[in-house]
Amino acid sequence: MSASTSADQADHAVHALPSAPVHAGHTSGQELVQLRGLRKVYNAGEPNEIEVLHGLDLRIRQGEFAALIGPSGSGKSTLLNVLGLLERGTAGEYVLAGQSISTLDDEALTRLRRDTLGFVFQFHHLLPAFTAEENVAMPVRVRDGVVSPRLRERARELLSAVGLSNAMDRKPSQLSGGMQQRVAIARALMLEPALVLADEPTGNLDTASSSEVFALLRRIHREVSTTFLVVTHDPRLAARCDRIIELVDGRISADGVPAAS
Ligand code: ADP
Repeated sequence: MSASTSADQADHAVHALPSAPVHAGHTSGQELVQLRGLRKVYNAGEPNEIEVLHGLDLRIRQGEFAALIGPSGSGKSTLLNVLGLLERGTAGEYVLAGQSISTLDDEALTRLRRDTLGFVFQFHHLLPAFTAEENVAMPVRVRDGVVSPRLRERARELLSAVGLSNAMDRKPSQLSGGMQQRVAIARALMLEPALVLADEPTGNLDTASSSEVFALLRRIHREVSTTFLVVTHDPRLAARCDRIIELVDGRISADGVPAAS
């Protein structure tokens, strides 16, 4: 399945990330996410109706690096799906990058998702038939139908920046788990998202690769001022974030800076 750990360490030359312009109208410190009274009900009106999120209020400012933690079943994935515009809330208000979601039709929602959000999942979902470079450029291919030379160069720069300049032409099966996740991170950055939503991005990696991938996310945050919300079960990783939001039983039970270790 994965190549060896030594393959993971084959190319660690660090190149600067290609600079991304700060998103129009979204300078550091401005509010990127505003939730007011967000509720999410599944199976409404059915005998198995369940309210999973009970009126959440949450604000995330441009430039934050926040962890979302909480026990299994507390609603983290549901919240991430709503924030990621993959599902709509049942009630309450969600304003993303200045746009009130409830006013948008599905097409506008898809456009806002593509132009504003990047996703990193526990399992990388790379396309096995394509090279690392082609996978990174895939969001452009989906959006434009073709990949211009300039954006092809951006894909290559991103791969260099995540330490994979020697692996651009390899298929996912020829990469270790940590390398695959770094390709997925480069792909998430391809369209210069204002907000990256990461769902257990290191959950499938060994401790060393996990720490490296997390350090990469922190470096990206430093260098290109992208905002991050990272779901993690790992308290050591949460402690390396600037803010920890804790969800328990569909409510925010704690929200603040990590305790000094
Ligand atoms: P977490 O990510 O914190 O483990 P989830 O958001 O996955 O929590 O789930 C929270 C609760 O919502 C659970 O009780 C789960 O069974 C329920 N749930 C999640 N998705 C659905 C769905 N599509 N239909 C019905 N119930 C769901």
